This record gives sequence, C-alpha cells and structure tokens, in this order.
Amino acid sequence: MLNEDDPHAVARTINTAGNYRFWRAIQPTDEQLDTVDWTTLLAGLTRSTGIEAPRLTAYLDALTTLDQLPRLRTLVEATWVLDMDYLRIIDRAAARAPLRLQDDPYFWETLDEVLVERLSTPRRAHQLLLKPGAIRQVVATTITTVQTADDHPAWPPVPEPDPPPESEPGDNSEKNSEGEAGEDDSEGNVGTEGPEGDSDADSEGNHTNDGDEGTADRPQPCLDPAELMRSLPPLEGTPAPGLWIDTEDNGTLRFELSVDQATGTLIRDAVWQVARSAKISQARAMVMLLLGQATTSVTTHLYTAKDVADAPVFHPLAGVLTEQAAQRLLDISTKTTDMDAAAGAYTPSYTPTDTIRAYLVGRDWACRWPGCSAPAVKVDNDHRINHHEGGPTTAANMVMLCRHHHNRKTDVQAQYLLDPVTGDVFWLFADGTWAVDHAEGPLAPAEKHWVQTYAQRRKRRAERAAARAAAAEFEDYQEGAEQRAEAHGRLEEAMAQTDTDPGRAPPE
Ligand SMILES: [Zn+2]
Repeated sequence: MLNEDDPHAVARTINTAGNYRFWRAIQPTDEQLDTVDWTTLLAGLTRSTGIEAPRLTAYLDALTTLDQLPRLRTLVEATWVLDMDYLRIIDRAAARAPLRLQDDPYFWETLDEVLVERLSTPRRAHQLLLKPGAIRQVVATTITTVQTADDHPAWPPVPEPDPPPESEPGDNSEKNSEGEAGEDDSEGNVGTEGPEGDSDADSEGNHTNDGDEGTADRPQPCLDPAELMRSLPPLEGTPAPGLWIDTEDNGTLRFELSVDQATGTLIRDAVWQVARSAKISQARAMVMLLLGQATTSVTTHLYTAKDVADAPVFHPLAGVLTEQAAQRLLDISTKTTDMDAAAGAYTPSYTPTDTIRAYLVGRDWACRWPGCSAPAVKVDNDHRINHHEGGPTTAANMVMLCRHHHNRKTDVQAQYLLDPVTGDVFWLFADGTWAVDHAEGPLAPAEKHWVQTYAQRRKRRAERAAARAAAAEFEDYQEGAEQRAEAHGRLEEAMAQTDTDPGRAPPE
C-alpha cells in the first residue's frame, strides 16, 4: 500500500507512526486506571499535553479498542497505514455493538479476523484504503453476523409469501402494473423471470418498479409502498414501531419514527425515489407521501448470492440486512435477476437498462472516485469511452460517479481505466500520479470471496451458539445436582422407613 517513491506517502507514514507512538505514550496504565479516576487522569493529561478531554477520550478509546484486536494492532504497527483517525472510525463503529456483544470474546475475535482480512491484503500497488463508509459497513456487518443468533434465538418462521396483491378498485395507478407482473411471478417467493432464474449466481430481488425510471423493455412489478407495508406480516420480537413528536422552540414539529429494518428500508427507498424523480428534498418527498400529494411505486433492490448457503443479503443503502429483514423483504420480492448475465448485458441506447444499472450499483456500491463514498444507487453512471464516440452501454465500459466527480472527470482532470474482470478502476490524474479504487459492492469479485467467509463465519457462530446452549444446560443440570441428591436421599430414607414401618406392612 505504501508507495516508497512518493515522498508525501512516506512523510505520512512517518507522521502516522509518530502520532501513534505519542498516543501510546500517554495511554494510562492498568494500574493508573485502577487507582485514579478517569476525570482526574484526563485533567492531568490535558495539563501536560494541551489536548482537551473529548479528543483525549476519543483517541484513547480507539487504542483501548485496538488492544482488543491483537491482529489488527500488529498490522497497524507493521505498516503505519492506518492512522489514529482510522482507528477512531473502527472504535466508534464497534461501540455500536450491544453491550452484551462487547463482553463476548467471540465478537472481538471475529472482528479482528474480518478487519485484518479486509485491510491487510493489498492486491495492487497504489491501493487505497477502504473508505470510512466501507469500514463502518464492515464493522456493522460483523455485529449483525455475530449478534443475530443471540438476539433472536427463535425468530418467527418464515411467513407464507404474500401473493402479489390483486388490483383493487380505488388504488393508485401504479398498482395496475402489478397485475401485469403478477402473471410472471405468481409463484411469489423470489419469483424468477425467464431463463435467467435458473442461474445460481447473485440475484437481485426487484420488488417493484420505480416510477421515474420508466418500464424499460418489459413489464415490471409495481407495488404501492403503503400497501406493501400493510402487507408485511407482524413480527414477534421486533420492537413495536415508535413515533415521537416534539414541538421545537420555533414552533416547528419534529417527528421521529422508529420501525423495524424491513419496513424502514421500504420507506427509505420510497422517500428517496420520490425525491429523486420530483427533484425535491427527501423531507419534502416524505411530507408529500404522507399527505397523499404524491404516490409512487417503489423499487427495492436486494443482492444476494444464490450459490452460497446463508449468504448475506445486501441493500444498497442499508448494507447487510439482518436475517429477519432480509427474509421479510425476500418474501415479498417479485422478481429475480441474474447479475452474472447482467455483467455482460448490452444495450444500444445511451441510458443503461434497469438491469445493467442494478449490476453497476451492485459492483461499485459507491462513487468510484478515490475516497468518495456517495452511495452508487444515488449517483450517475459514466461511460468510460463516451457513447457518441462508440463506447458501448455495458458494465465493462461504465462506472458509477457522483455528479461532482463526474464533472471532474469530464473536465479532463482525470481519466480512468476499468478492469472489467475485477472491477478495479485505475485513475490517472493530470499531474501524472495514479491510484486504484476497488469495487466494494457485493458483486465485485473480492466481495464474492468475502461472502463465502461470511457464510462460514455464520456457520461457526451457529455452532458456537449451540455449544454455549449445551454448556448452559449442563451448568443448569450441575446446579440442580445438590437438590437432586437431597431429594434422592429423602426418597431413599422414606423408602427405608416404609420397609421397617410395621403399620404399613404389605397386606397379606
Ligand atoms: Zn464522488
């Protein structure tokens, strides 16, 4: 990762190492932590370093977390590529794990393993670090992976897939196309479409069609999001939705809504899609939806590997979904698209088909400009070789770029090459420097490997949960051993008495 010919990169490494050693030098010892309270310690450190308490706490916390991750620590101290701010991002992401998980060594072992796996394998020179958004996602996914079995040991059985809603009179017009699609997808659960459906490749569950993208070249399943949400089966163990409404000082009202992940993901997609098609803010879009001033059909794209048991299910904005949310959304999905076929799909038009765009989002996941983390689903697609200059509209000639970086590129401040196999983008800047940006979506080859290890990890997690349950059962059994021995003793005594009790002699 370190380019030794680049004096800036070398200077940065030296700085990272020095800064890290500074924080290690002021890190309180265990003995200090045992004998002096934290506030006093911080006050002393502020006096001697001039650094204020919040910053001290943040960076020292980052080190404490790093101490729970021995393999990552070795990596940090061997490469000096991950600086204190990066460690802080990891710390803050890990702090979102429930407390119970933070006490679980398995969580830390797994996190250590995942982070080292993701951060220590420079596949190419000039490789950039995982973006902060991506690293947060890696940590969040690990939390989801390790947590689910504990939190929902017996989640409700998978509900029967909802049949595609019948066209009901009085519903909005988008509903009508649901009728069309229903014919193809009447089998319901992850309905497949055409011969593509046989593939065991990654798939994209396409619930409903997005109003503003048009219906492309075939009928697409459409649903009214409100209807969709009403159709979701109630889920035990999921906190009931909560709504908090506050009046702010200036008289405005503040709404806070808490819902389960599946419902929230549908709402998020609906709001975003209305905002995008009407070119309004998401807040305004939500108001219009709630007041019935806008109707929409909503498309929710899910990505999952069909050839890996227990594969994670990805949503372009939510990341890896919890098992329950994934199941609920898959149950109402109406279309499956083979993304391996989409990788090679081609259209003569300038605008990619929905399928090609879905592939690009699933491969790129974020704007491909080095360091930009704008979600791919929200940005434009760029033809590497312009369409009017003969560049085809196909994934091998396209990447996702946010508006800002799209302009940068077209101003000829930078050019890129795209490796169609790996999805890596090689950026060539006007000053002669270059950088590689790796595709980070679930369809990128590196992520496919990760999906495999994810599945293995979940298996291990399940085995571990089973072992823990068995151990707990054994412990319970042991705990009762004394009482059982006493009870047994009393029984024996009673029987012995019965034998010798003349009054109770067996009848002759
Ligand atoms: Zn960008």
